[in-house]
Amino acid sequence: MNITEETLIQRIRRRVPSSEGGVLRLGIGDDAALVRTPPGADWVVTSDPFIEDVHFLADTHAPDVVGYKALARATSDLAAMGAQPQLFLLNLTIPASRTGRWLEGMLTGMGRAARKFRLRLAGGDTSQGPKSSPTISLHVTVLGSVERGRELRRTGAQPGDAVFVSGPLGAAQLGLELILHGRHRETRWKKLLAPQFHPVPAILLGQWLAHQRIASAAMDLSDGLSSDLPRLCKASAVGARIYAEKLPCVVVPRELRPLKLDALTLALHGGEDYGLLFTVPARSAPRIPNTFHGTTLTHIGEIVRGRGVSLVDARGKISPLKPRGWDHFRTR
Ligand SMILES: [Mg+2]
Repeated sequence: MNITEETLIQRIRRRVPSSEGGVLRLGIGDDAALVRTPPGADWVVTSDPFIEDVHFLADTHAPDVVGYKALARATSDLAAMGAQPQLFLLNLTIPASRTGRWLEGMLTGMGRAARKFRLRLAGGDTSQGPKSSPTISLHVTVLGSVERGRELRRTGAQPGDAVFVSGPLGAAQLGLELILHGRHRETRWKKLLAPQFHPVPAILLGQWLAHQRIASAAMDLSDGLSSDLPRLCKASAVGARIYAEKLPCVVVPRELRPLKLDALTLALHGGEDYGLLFTVPARSAPRIPNTFHGTTLTHIGEIVRGRGVSLVDARGKISPLKPRGWDHFRTR
């Protein structure tokens, strides 16, 4: 690397909140961080890779978007557990050619996400990576805390429970389609790109569901409803039935009709929305508000006995819902 490790750390600390305080007793600068456990809480820990050409495209995703999104994706898994975000660790592999403006931009985006989600950087490492593959990779580990015994899990859904989602479905995929069709540089679609570039994890909703003990199961929607709902069902050993007409599909503007994007397809199979998918016992369903801090909460179906997820179309026809969301290990 053509900058020293020390300079790099200084630059990171200037952009990303990393001061000691709260649960962080000893932060960056020693061999490891020292972290205090909040009283009556458990730690929730998860890590997430964000790799060039796999999760983002360096010529399409601006550096600040890369920094923001790397942290938002990981934080969404904390939200899905009902946790309060606390700390994160960053392992960065970056070619020397990106240590100038690209890195500043990335750190600016990451700092913005960290302040928004109330996360402090507790440590990590940086390396240049092999010269033969000059790609960028960010590995983010996030730690959150949850009141002991109140975490949201995927395993508690029961037949008869109502199935809810937060936010619109397919909005991030619509942004991705604009990119894939080369329409993302048109300023009039800037708003439609926000869910793709700056997703907002459902942190407060997750905490509310956990604190109220109202959800029987929950997870975040990272890969698309058709991929994620079967995961929740499998973990709970149940099936589900959802209704096409009830889905809060993203609105595709008329001017984009030539792209032949179907709102229902985007809603069912589009990834990266980072809303929550959760189930609630039928008797508690009326306690779920229509909106929560400005985000819509929609009752889309119910949990049933048996296995598999089925989709009821507008005419009442029932068909199995095949997972067609994002999966790195399935070629498309
Ligand atoms: Mg998840």
